[in-house]
Amino acid sequence: DTPIRIGIVGYGNLGRGVERSVGLNPDMQLVGVFTRRDPASVTTVSSDVSVRAVDDLEAMRADIDVLVLCGGSKSDLPEQSPAMASAFTIVDSFDTHARIPEHFAAVDAAARAAGTTAIISTGWDPGLFSLQRLYGEAILPQGETYTFWGRGLSQGHSDAVRRVPGVAAGVQYTIPSENAIAQVRAGDLPELSTREKHTRECFVVLDEGADADAVREAIVTMPDYFEPYDTTVQFISAEELARDHAGVPHGGFVIRSGTTSANTEQTVEFRLALESNPEFTASVLVAYARAAARLAASGDHGAKTPFDVAPGLLSPKSPAQLRADLL
Ligand code: NAP
Repeated sequence: DTPIRIGIVGYGNLGRGVERSVGLNPDMQLVGVFTRRDPASVTTVSSDVSVRAVDDLEAMRADIDVLVLCGGSKSDLPEQSPAMASAFTIVDSFDTHARIPEHFAAVDAAARAAGTTAIISTGWDPGLFSLQRLYGEAILPQGETYTFWGRGLSQGHSDAVRRVPGVAAGVQYTIPSENAIAQVRAGDLPELSTREKHTRECFVVLDEGADADAVREAIVTMPDYFEPYDTTVQFISAEELARDHAGVPHGGFVIRSGTTSANTEQTVEFRLALESNPEFTASVLVAYARAAARLAASGDHGAKTPFDVAPGLLSPKSPAQLRADLL
């Protein structure tokens, strides 16, 4: 069997995770990393990985089966996913939930015109958590679904904080409300507002001379990302950021709680406890890259989400092996 040839577009936390994950999957081969920065300025985890300019991709259509897009959801992926899908089969981890329908439409148009396959919004949320929400609703139509995140560092929200003018560096933690979790676990089926379920906490290093109040205001009023939550912003030094906020833990859970007859309660819970959010997210992207390669090879083109991808396509095992081993 010839290996699936992978290209990484954008080399930050997620890009590094994809490099590591491809190394753990013997049916895949890393062609290289493609960056908008000067390739000579980018150092990869493994020294034998080639780093090239994103513009070099145009000449490499025949050398790559799937591009794994590792740019940020705030401003990279809305441009990069449709642009790349017009020449390559891609996967991305676009995580601005409110904008997924328009992102899907833009990527779908590009992929259909080009005859490529594009799986968008993979990862864990959106991604694995979305699948659990779907299973819960489909199987227990009478009930409620609850998603809790954290305590953890959210890459998408940290990315959004760092793009605010005046911000030199920063991180954002999502914190679930203990009280809300206890009510859900007790089967109380509470009605919880977005604000009651989680709070958001930002630690920000300011650019020299930046106006702290203006930065705080820009963050807490940011639509979709921070406006629907109680958000606190703390200003810290670059030294404190490096010392206290270097890890990227995350996790959370999806709970479906419902009834199938009077007084017969059924609860389904899916939990993630992650020491590295980007390394885990990257591992999900790589499994979906395998599915994308197979869909593209079978002529199934256009944009897809995890809802549209059969689970067996994620596995390196054949359907017969899966029936024998895992069913
Ligand atoms: P990141 O480290 O900020 O990287 C984003 C992009 O910034 C890179 O692709 C890279 O592009 C550029 N970059 C990285 N380091 C740089 C540097 N030192 N100087 C200048 N530019 C640099 O973001 P990330 O942590 O990898 O996260 C990417 C996205 O993953 C997030 O925005 C989020 O949307 C998504 N995500 C999704 C899930 C999910 O469950 N669906 C979970 C986690 C994250 P170039 O190489 O082209 O410069």
